[in-house]
Amino acid sequence: EAAVKNEILAKAREMQVKFIRLQFTDILGVLKNVAITVEQLEKALDGELMFDGSSIEGFVRIEESDMYLRPDPSTFVVFPWRPREGAVARLMCDVYNPDGTPFEGCPRNALKKALAEAAEMGYSMNVGPEAEFFLFQVDENGQPTLKTHDNAGYFDLTPVDMGENARRSMVLTLEDMGFEIEASHHEVAPGQHEIDFKYGDALDVADKIVTFKFVVRTIAQRHGLHATFMPKPIFGINGSGMHCHQSLFVDGKNAFYDAGSPDGMSQLAKYYIGGLMKHARAFAAITNPTVNSYKRLVPGYEAPVYIAWSERNRSPLIRVPAKRGMSTRIELRCPDPSCNPYLAIAAMLKCGMDGIKNKIEPATPCEKNIYHMSPAERADLGIGSLPASLMEAMQELSADEVVKSALGPHIFEKFIEAKTKEWDSFRVQVHPWEVEEYLSKF
Ligand code: ADP
Ligand code: MG
Ligand code: MG
Ligand code: MG
Ligand code: MG
Repeated sequence: EAAVKNEILAKAREMQVKFIRLQFTDILGVLKNVAITVEQLEKALDGELMFDGSSIEGFVRIEESDMYLRPDPSTFVVFPWRPREGAVARLMCDVYNPDGTPFEGCPRNALKKALAEAAEMGYSMNVGPEAEFFLFQVDENGQPTLKTHDNAGYFDLTPVDMGENARRSMVLTLEDMGFEIEASHHEVAPGQHEIDFKYGDALDVADKIVTFKFVVRTIAQRHGLHATFMPKPIFGINGSGMHCHQSLFVDGKNAFYDAGSPDGMSQLAKYYIGGLMKHARAFAAITNPTVNSYKRLVPGYEAPVYIAWSERNRSPLIRVPAKRGMSTRIELRCPDPSCNPYLAIAAMLKCGMDGIKNKIEPATPCEKNIYHMSPAERADLGIGSLPASLMEAMQELSADEVVKSALGPHIFEKFIEAKTKEWDSFRVQVHPWEVEEYLSKF
């Protein structure tokens, strides 16, 4: 411990770090910062820095507002876009109560708890996210617009792809910060992009997703563009998802792989799929947590709608990519980048583990295009659908003990409270669609 601490103090000195941002997320996944100077770093690493938790969404009441931040030393990284002299670094933190116990409103603590439970059964979880985002122009006042900077499509190259410079700079920055970028390309919709980084340990990847969104937004701004991870910014074209590839390892070996089974997948992988499918309607509230998320989960735009799995086609909720060996994994296609990655990963893991514990066999894989089936055909095959709205998802979440246990009572309660407010504020609006539809009709 002391060695790790000294290593970071040395690194900070060597890299001429002046400011350190202590980072954590609120329950909605919004990144929070407490900035300190390097002189306070040692104290911070000892977990002795206090902050006022009452100002953070979903944290605590005023009368119990003193909280402690415990930085995770492995997350120390210098922001490459800031000056080299008087550099700025960050540390991801866990939030602790004054009595030294982990704060139950801290999403990172929730994920750690789920990972510890899996570890007790011998499993470590790997996640590989594919986060999509839009780059929009800003107006003369610096406000984001819905105007894209290009008309390019999937895999198009310059000169059409004007966001390419921005994306290139994002990739280089992320690499500087220790990301291993596997792919980066223009997406289907104009102005839409994707940058994929290599899968890794679930906690590290959750930290990376938070960092990723922050870096993409920062670099976009530096190119005069606005990056958004809003799931469906424009009606009529593809929204932005964050497919989550996942696998469990046992002693460094991929436990989803079984060379002896006909499809190369282990029984464990099947149970994991069974668990995800069983709880999909409930964890949707966590993986797709905004009003807008449900505008993406509609037919016709490559986003999943139906609860099925497949080894071949890309229309269902869960796809099993063809690669085997260490790359054996399942891809959950519903999550979108508006989710809190700590809670989303904790929820997915808990549901997969529930499948394993209770030996939940998934339905037979569905190799046909589900969107071409009639409701009767789907009913025959027992194929359900994801919730159609945030409200529906919240009702499912409230009735699902497994997903609730991934959050814990504190986060569950605060989450429902915040999301009910969000839903109510949306519900009372009169939307342009209604005016267009009804104003002259009635
Ligand atoms: P897609 O075909 O959907 O575009 P990719 O082939 O680009 O998917 O893979 C996306 C992600 O899968 C990457 O982040 C990659 O690192 C990750 N991945 C590879 N092997 C595993 C594994 N064993 N467990 C979890 N994720 C993995
Ligand atoms: Mg991809
Ligand atoms: Mg790919
Ligand atoms: Mg994509
Ligand atoms: Mg994918």
